[in-house]
Amino acid sequence: MCMPFSPRSSPVVRFAALAALFSALTGCDALRTNPMAAPPRSEEPPPPSSAPATSTPVSTAPPGKKHTRGSYYVLYHDFEIDKTDPLFAELDALPEQVFSELKLPPSNSIVQVFLFDTQERYERYMRAKYRNLPPRRAYFIAEPRTGGTDELKIFTWLGDHLSTDLRHELTHALLRSVLKEVPLWLDEGLAGFFELPPHQDGVNPQHLDTLRRGPFQPDLARLEKLKDVVEMQKPEYREAWAWVHLMLRTGPGAKKVLHDYLQALRTDPNPGPLLPKLSEAVPEPEQALADHLTTVEVPKSRPRSRVNAQK
Ligand SMILES: [Zn+2]
Repeated sequence: MCMPFSPRSSPVVRFAALAALFSALTGCDALRTNPMAAPPRSEEPPPPSSAPATSTPVSTAPPGKKHTRGSYYVLYHDFEIDKTDPLFAELDALPEQVFSELKLPPSNSIVQVFLFDTQERYERYMRAKYRNLPPRRAYFIAEPRTGGTDELKIFTWLGDHLSTDLRHELTHALLRSVLKEVPLWLDEGLAGFFELPPHQDGVNPQHLDTLRRGPFQPDLARLEKLKDVVEMQKPEYREAWAWVHLMLRTGPGAKKVLHDYLQALRTDPNPGPLLPKLSEAVPEPEQALADHLTTVEVPKSRPRSRVNAQK
């Protein structure tokens, strides 16, 4: 089985690609697993050794000796963690931040977060459980279960980027819990907006700096056509974030376009492209985006705590 992914090629394995993968491996077309990962980053851990994916059964269990309950997630882990760490309060506040910003209804879904203590254990488990997935720091996986609702799972490990990765993946999970479908570019643009702590107000300094240095030719029509994960590279992530930031931070007209679009996605998995609607509210949206990026101010960064395993 040849997967069309390189280790840094695409952060997201959408349903279609994964269904094809599992179909080939298991003959099961009905499996609707949908892994979504944190975007590729320059500091992405190196791919595991060249050991090929095999049909070896799962040889390791996910963490679960202990659990920490949040307001909408359960964190499974095998080590002691400091439950007073500010990260947990921040994660508890994420649904309110996401749903109020996007004018979406609250969700009752519980997200299962499996937190491994080491990168090696995490990667070994992922290779065994989700064969052939490209290595990523974190994955969101929606697994269908009887009754129609998905089981929402996040897998990651205790690394330096835990906070960003958890916020990114939990944003995917929150969106999935209330929307029928989320277009690839929009899903990643929204996760990129909410992955940084609230005081950043959606501003990603690295994206902003890269886009300002250019060259940058925004093209939302092209972005909206992307269906295949291999087409979604770092430039597409940056552009997706930029369009989301434009819509949420330039004025009520553009914001309403996004709100209306998300409302449509609550009941219609394919409401059509967003660009024609945005063009009605924002003349020459590409130029508007370029102008917007010149005006965004970068909030002062604040030190973030690092969750540590307590030995
Ligand atoms: Zn993502």
